[in-house]
Amino acid sequence: MPNHILEFPGGYTRSVGPVIGRFLSELRDGRLVGVKTQAGKVLFPPVEYDPANGHEVTGEFVEVGPVGTVETFSWVPEPLPAHPLDRPFAWALIRPDGADTAILHALDLGEFERGAKPPKRLKAGLRVRPEYRAERKGDITDIVAFRPEVSMITSPTRLEYDLQPGKALDRFFEAVAEGKILGHRCGVCDKVIVPMAGFCAKDGVPTTEEVEVADTGTVTTFAVNNLPDPRAPEVPFVSAYVLLDGADITLLTLVAGIPADQVRMGMRVKAAWKPREEWGPTLSNIRWFEPSGEPDVPFETIEEYL
Ligand SMILES: [Zn+2]
Repeated sequence: MPNHILEFPGGYTRSVGPVIGRFLSELRDGRLVGVKTQAGKVLFPPVEYDPANGHEVTGEFVEVGPVGTVETFSWVPEPLPAHPLDRPFAWALIRPDGADTAILHALDLGEFERGAKPPKRLKAGLRVRPEYRAERKGDITDIVAFRPEVSMITSPTRLEYDLQPGKALDRFFEAVAEGKILGHRCGVCDKVIVPMAGFCAKDGVPTTEEVEVADTGTVTTFAVNNLPDPRAPEVPFVSAYVLLDGADITLLTLVAGIPADQVRMGMRVKAAWKPREEWGPTLSNIRWFEPSGEPDVPFETIEEYL
């Protein structure tokens, strides 16, 4: 790896080893990654040594964010020529979701006259996401700035997407009436969302690529319920989040065909469909999920879906 120079917006530079090199390569691809310390913390941006104790980090990279939270900030009413934005902005310490440390970066809150007071919305706890340059080259300025999270309801540019969820869900129920479970693959995060809603809530982008997923899956988490429920065969019954094979979002469903106290995380299950003549455009075509008899999957493979 060539000797990259990492320029933080604060203005200092340093040469780059493999850990930060990985961070910059991922950044060029539009992803934020942190690195795990031996103590299990996620450092972002990643560095070679745990600042808490000087131990080498593990080399295990974890995707974080992209949405994060402002921890502290400093308003810049009169930007200088060297600053990343030419209108008032804030320097902020931003901790992406999933990270234990924060990055210092510019926070763009929109158009302001030079010398303006900080806007009311600028406060610790503000939810923000990175805005990437279209052409990225693998340095920290690939992120132009962080910006407040867009609300799906108030932003006019998102209105057209609000119309999509209904359409996508109609497709989903049409398919389920024929015994197929459909999802959408997000073009940004590549995750398969089931049932598809026409957009990826994580990335705030519309989704259209249809993917059929299996009617088999894995129990991620579950709860034993002791109150009767009309959908459940008996009391106690188990409600569980099941990660269908091919999906990246779990589905809340019933699990039956096994005593409640034997249900476990990692257990493989398959859909128990009602008789075909009872099918309609509803997920209750699947009465519940039952053990498939396959061996349990290791905890690590479901960990990220908990
Ligand atoms: Zn996505």
